[in-house]
Amino acid sequence: MRRVRVILLQPGLGALDYRADEVLAPGDIVIAPLGPRDVLGVVWEADAAPARDVADAKLRAIKGRVDAPPVAEPLRRLIDWVAEYYLAAPGAVLRMALPSTSALEPAAAAWGWRASGTVPARMTPARSAALAKIVEACGTVADLARLGGVSDAVIRGLIAGGALERVALVPPPAFALPQADHAPPALEPAQAAAAGVLAAAVEGGGFAPFLLEGVTGSGKTEVYFEAVAQALRQEGQALVLLPEIALTAPFLARFAARFGAAPAVWHSGLTSALRRATWRSVADGSARVVVGARSALFLPFAALKLIVVDEAHEASFKQEDGVPYHGRDAAVMRARFEGCPVVLATATPALETRAQAEAGRYTHLVLPSRFAGAAMPTVATVDLKRWPPPRGRWLSPPLVRALDETLAAGQQALLFLNRRGYAPLTLCRACGERIGCPDCSAWLVEHRLLARLMCHHCGHSVPVPPACPACGAPGTLAACGPGVERIADEVARSFPDARVAIATSDTLGSQGRAAAFVAAMEAREIDIVVGTQLVAKGHHFPELTLVGVVDADLGLAGGDLRAAERTFQQIAQAGGRAGRGAKAGRVLLQTYEPRAPVLRALVSGDAAAFHAAEAAARREAGMPPYGRLAALVVSSVDGARAEAVARALGRAAPAADGVRILGPAQAPMAMLRGRHRWRLLAQARRSADLQGVLRVWLAAVPVPGNVRVGVDVDPYSFV
Ligand code: ADP
Ligand code: ZN
Repeated sequence: MRRVRVILLQPGLGALDYRADEVLAPGDIVIAPLGPRDVLGVVWEADAAPARDVADAKLRAIKGRVDAPPVAEPLRRLIDWVAEYYLAAPGAVLRMALPSTSALEPAAAAWGWRASGTVPARMTPARSAALAKIVEACGTVADLARLGGVSDAVIRGLIAGGALERVALVPPPAFALPQADHAPPALEPAQAAAAGVLAAAVEGGGFAPFLLEGVTGSGKTEVYFEAVAQALRQEGQALVLLPEIALTAPFLARFAARFGAAPAVWHSGLTSALRRATWRSVADGSARVVVGARSALFLPFAALKLIVVDEAHEASFKQEDGVPYHGRDAAVMRARFEGCPVVLATATPALETRAQAEAGRYTHLVLPSRFAGAAMPTVATVDLKRWPPPRGRWLSPPLVRALDETLAAGQQALLFLNRRGYAPLTLCRACGERIGCPDCSAWLVEHRLLARLMCHHCGHSVPVPPACPACGAPGTLAACGPGVERIADEVARSFPDARVAIATSDTLGSQGRAAAFVAAMEAREIDIVVGTQLVAKGHHFPELTLVGVVDADLGLAGGDLRAAERTFQQIAQAGGRAGRGAKAGRVLLQTYEPRAPVLRALVSGDAAAFHAAEAAARREAGMPPYGRLAALVVSSVDGARAEAVARALGRAAPAADGVRILGPAQAPMAMLRGRHRWRLLAQARRSADLQGVLRVWLAAVPVPGNVRVGVDVDPYSFV
């Protein structure tokens, strides 16, 4: 008899032992009984030592092996690492590697549904919202439900109403082979030097982490493409991680121009047929280059020779739901287990990454200037105390003048404001009521284009009420503060002839719409873009010469650990859109605090001094990257219970050397999705065994069923 240790595809569970009647190897995907059900699992140990808790004779038998490629050792080690480091259940982490059981099934669905163009007689808000999201899609009921963010029942309702029609699903094509030498560019000397180092690292193999730092527009992509080319020459695979994968049409076009074939793409919006085909092709090695969101880190690569994390400073690589992990750190660990180079490419490296480079653990490659001699934009602040906008407006006279000049010169401008919708707060002038979300500690944001008030935390949405919901007075509701829609209104009033576009996740929410926006920008059918951070990075529009940052103080308001650093990154990225072609660019930062260190650094261009000061302050305070943090978030629909567990955790706080516990305290977002929230924070010296301390601590406090204690190691969110 053989005893095998199996991790089941079940979120809450650790490894379980079974009896195997056939020969199994670690990584084999199997079907195992769990209570009355059969579930999928992966063999972790093929010849496990007997465990005390279950005698050999009591073991249940594995039901069979699934005919799918086994989970290879490097990926198993990554799963183990994520589970250990982030204190997550192995089964929950395994689910990220085997995301759909459909990938394991031999045949894909042959029939699916797509929008017919008919609008059903009965349209609920859920139906119309879903229809808007899936209008370009085609897939099974389950696919469309996932893409539309609704239940299967809503999709079936749309089918019954005639809004969707049945179509045959064509099997997705096999992935074409990108060619290493299809159309290589002539690199500039600094590019060639960096590309040479990376290509040599791929050729030599072995784990090697790199920080590829280059100002915006320096041509980092062309540089790491040479490393991708080297991986292709060696018949290996490469993975490129991007933030905001839904908006990558220009990147994919650029890839295809360089390599003569499109890469495989991986993100949560794929239909199940494409998901299955991609998963299988990555596993058998026929998909050679994958461009994906962080979830692509858990794909079953057969011969991975390179990982690139582009825009590596982006906070969106941190997963907040499910298993909270940082994609940038997991990418480095996967490269370590695969024994291959990993490249973190960015114009504004995170302090964590800088510290690694300074300590000599990452090789630091630098591209000091923009490609083709393009100059960096000039950056200036506009002191709003000195140049206030007219009442009820948000653009100061100097910024309006700059827009005027830009339009007169036939060039394009970007107004950056990281706030979706029309106004962040709606207030009653009669009674002072501020309209909040019933389920979250947050104001509802007015979306005038949709005529709704929406919660950006839980999705709750209501039509804009005609009267104050508190005092009933009609016509007293006032919008407070600007969002991008309000700025776009103001621009339209000031520049009636200008063609204005709003660019946010609301307006560019699908691949098709994002591609149409980029095409319109390139064809110069847009004069002024008003957008959030979504457009403020990555894009290359040669005719865009002015960037106006509407509220440079916005990011500093929250005041968390990384507020100044994030503000620097965001504004540097947004400003980096200006003047990328032959024409010089300029950046205007509207602020009430022109003397804030972060703004002075942006104006002077002295990033090094700013980062040195930030690093010194963090070191002094024992904060990351010089110290470590882990957050515990205790939540429950029952406020008293959440508080009781939080206080019990506080009383049981460990007295370990080098670890300090802060809290419990009510979370700044005291209520989220109807759950009351409390927070505790563990701060530790780098040398302390933070995970060990957390494990002992958590085991000491019983948690009732309706309370959840979420652990967030290396937290980025402090709300
Ligand atoms: P970054 O990612 O560093 O901001 P990009 O890689 O987007 O910069 O490059 C900026 C622009 O310069 C892009 O349009 C890119 O195609 C072009 N470019 C960069 N390097 C070269 C090169 N060696 N030859 C031709 N075009 C290049
Ligand atoms: Zn809400």
